[in-house]
Amino acid sequence: MTHFFSTIGGRILLLVGIVNMLSMAGMVAFYADRQEKSILIQNEKSLNRTAETASQGLQALMLRGDADIAQTYADNLKKVSMIEDFRIMRIDGNEAFHDNQTILSVNERLGKEEFQTREKEEMINVLSQGNQYLNKVVMERRQVAYTHQENGVDKLTFLLPVIAEQACYRCHDKHKPIRGVLKITTSLLSVREAIQASRSQALLILVGSILGSLLVVGILIQWSLVQRIKMVTVAMEKISHGDFTQRIPVTGLRELVHMAESFNAMTVEVVRGYSRLTEEQNKLTIVIRSAQEAIIVTNAAGEVVLINPAAERILEKTQETLVNEGFLSVVDDPDYVRHFIAHNGMGTPDTLVYKNRVLNFFAATIYNSQNLPIGSAALIRDITQEKRLEERLRLLSYTDKLTGLYNRRRMEELLEKEYDRARRYSLPLSILFFDIDHFKKFNDTYGHDMGDKVLEMVGRIAKEHCRNVDYPCRYGGEEFCIILTDTEERGAFLAANRFRQTLESTIIEDEIHVTCSIGIATFPGAICVEWKEFLKLADNALYEAKAQGRNRVIQWQPEITPKKG
Ligand code: GH3
Ligand code: MG
Ligand code: MG
Repeated sequence: MTHFFSTIGGRILLLVGIVNMLSMAGMVAFYADRQEKSILIQNEKSLNRTAETASQGLQALMLRGDADIAQTYADNLKKVSMIEDFRIMRIDGNEAFHDNQTILSVNERLGKEEFQTREKEEMINVLSQGNQYLNKVVMERRQVAYTHQENGVDKLTFLLPVIAEQACYRCHDKHKPIRGVLKITTSLLSVREAIQASRSQALLILVGSILGSLLVVGILIQWSLVQRIKMVTVAMEKISHGDFTQRIPVTGLRELVHMAESFNAMTVEVVRGYSRLTEEQNKLTIVIRSAQEAIIVTNAAGEVVLINPAAERILEKTQETLVNEGFLSVVDDPDYVRHFIAHNGMGTPDTLVYKNRVLNFFAATIYNSQNLPIGSAALIRDITQEKRLEERLRLLSYTDKLTGLYNRRRMEELLEKEYDRARRYSLPLSILFFDIDHFKKFNDTYGHDMGDKVLEMVGRIAKEHCRNVDYPCRYGGEEFCIILTDTEERGAFLAANRFRQTLESTIIEDEIHVTCSIGIATFPGAICVEWKEFLKLADNALYEAKAQGRNRVIQWQPEITPKKG
């Protein structure tokens, strides 16, 4: 029941019921009251007429001198259904025609026995002499009506004055204007019953009309409002389950028409928005699926819900494995992923080696507009090729194109590093600085291309004579140097001489051969402040080798004259 009154229909019915009940109850009360009054008035009027008729009849009898039959007349009146009691009283409240009081006084006045006295006399007091209604009738000479109870039954009594007429004074005292009082009593029981019946009828009409109006209002509400609202609710529910075909018929009351139009417009907008969203989602799905980066996404519960083909390829795992292992195990290192997400990648390396691949890793928690976490995402890029390319580029930038040896820039870096290391750890370090003898003339004789071939060959021989801890470099032009780590003077001299001899004995194009002069500087023999100075000492030794006739190896010594320039 409470549930019913919390619905629109129930609430309106309740209101209509209350308003109806109040107004109808008021109306019914008003008309019932009027009807009651009219019944009472009607009753009073008919009694009044009866009383007046009786009074007139009596008067006529009396005037004809038939006073004897007055009592019979009164007794007969009692038999009238409406009349319960009818009395003819003198003004002292005693019933007339039962004693000889009036007869005696009339005979006395007339001075003869005009009227014969009753043999059987009886004194009946109907109303006491001081009775207010009786006094009122006598004093005011008009009828008085009053209600009273007798044995629990309501009674209505009329007291009517019998006014003396001229003819009366023949027998009666002319100083007494009222000859007597008629008392007519009727029971109000039937009247009350009639009123009760009318009330019951009114109540029945009230209940009937309230129920009827409620029924009509209920049907109207159900038909014009509740049904429509239900229709909208059902349509909304269907839309919420993805059925966007729902439309409401645009009919009925103005507000409902407006509601239906708004609802339909809203549905169209929802469909438009949904298809736009779907389009965007499709685009995004295509982008994600065709992306070269691995993309793995979880829901708020941490379950993996999206894996693109790149993820399977890069991580070499099937979708099923990725789902089963869970988001934190994408690269088989839950601590790493957890730490990365917790610190937004700060202080965590984003490059890692996984299954022989170099991967660039990124992961983050995804938040919605209310800043609540709705999942996590990992973006993994396979940068193996990039790293290889990078390495190649790095090597290229270090390498001399013609000879494949380290170039001058790299040589300087290496020498700086190795010289510092040698000094810090007191390790021996040697550097060979060599220059091809009379190369200018060689170029002039055999051409520049042949010169390049020779340089290429020198590079190859230099490489062949190096251990893998040595660094053969092209210093520039036809000048080379080889950094020999952990090598003392003697070892450096032997290596240099061996190289010089190999070059000298290498025949190019059947007849040509070149020689070179080599200068050596060795730490700790040559102690310098920095690597540049150390290199300069080797250059000085080379200058000395040139000066001594070329095709030889000269070890730097303090007495060697520094090269000018
Ligand atoms: P020396 O060293 O014995 O005193 O005599 P040189 O003739 O070799 O004298 P220098 O070292 O001054 O000559 C360098 C020459 O090397 C100049 C140039 O013709 C040649 N040269 C330098 N770089 C290249 C190169 O890349 N290719 C060729 N073909 N020749 C070069
Ligand atoms: Mg030179
Ligand atoms: Mg030279």
